[in-house]
Amino acid sequence: MAVASGTAALHAAYAAIGLSPGQTLVTTPLTFSATATTALHLGARVRFADVCEDTLNLDPSAAAAAIDASVSAITAVDYAGHPADIPAIQAIAEQCGAVVVEDAAHAIGGSLEGVPVGAMASLTTFSFHPVKTVTSGEGGAVVCGDARFEPALRRFRDHGMVRAVEHQRHPEEGSWHQEVHALGLNYRMPDILAALGTSQLRRLGAFVARRRALVARYHDLLAGIPGLRLPAQRPGADPAWHLFAVRVLDGRRREVHERLRAQNIGTQVHYWPVHRQPLFEDLGYRAGICPVAESAYDQLLSLPLFPAMTDADQDRVAGAVREILQ
Ligand SMILES: *Cc1c(COP(=O)(O)O)cnc(C)c1O
Repeated sequence: MAVASGTAALHAAYAAIGLSPGQTLVTTPLTFSATATTALHLGARVRFADVCEDTLNLDPSAAAAAIDASVSAITAVDYAGHPADIPAIQAIAEQCGAVVVEDAAHAIGGSLEGVPVGAMASLTTFSFHPVKTVTSGEGGAVVCGDARFEPALRRFRDHGMVRAVEHQRHPEEGSWHQEVHALGLNYRMPDILAALGTSQLRRLGAFVARRRALVARYHDLLAGIPGLRLPAQRPGADPAWHLFAVRVLDGRRREVHERLRAQNIGTQVHYWPVHRQPLFEDLGYRAGICPVAESAYDQLLSLPLFPAMTDADQDRVAGAVREILQ
């Protein structure tokens, strides 16, 4: 189901699950804030569980330690495009009757053990924001692995409205009649953006292939640089790389970021752990609750990665990184 943004996709997924006051979402702090804040919009609580040291995806054992009877959703994020271990998260979710959501904003086109991202979790969300692998200008989508969520998803996108006569409570009103059955929003994707998104989607294979080739080249160009740790890839995972997030050791991340910027090479940090955001700080969350994510944050730096990047662009970036660290 196409929606207006990746944030709308998450909000609709959580609404379809029925996340509400008294219930808890368990998720990773190493994500864009919307993964968590959309649960707050529904009045639910958020409990952050730590990430795996290698992939920086939600750690199934940390998620297992975070569940209790109040947990009705667990959201894993495919950090940088590396698919999260959804089968392991699913096994944990079954222990408390929670629904697994995969925030795949980074991972469209990826797969795990041959299963495409979107075909694993009960609900998978995508973003088509301009920085993402496929864009519709702004936009998003929810994929239902579990069809029981579909009616609620479609209603939430469209004001909670029911137009099908057979599902109306008062169909005798007349053929003009439409009913609001639940709280919803206008989260529809505009047709014009859908047309752009549909044409961009045809290029998904080429975009993912170019990103993979650039990542393979980065691994060659940056191998053996002291104080630099390159992203891990687990056996069985076929990531669709959205980010090339390296770790700069020895406290030199800020220096590398600033010296690259001085050479007109833009880098970013993904992410300041969400529980550190003032919104969550004001709700009582404190540093120290997810030590793996927090220490990864201190080192993370996303180097430029985009399909139109040329080999020469990349040689310049890698050469600059090598010169700073060697
Ligand atoms: C981009 C992103 C979102 C939000 O998507 P929008 O389309 O910008 O609303 C949510 N989660 C993650 C992990 C993202 O990267």
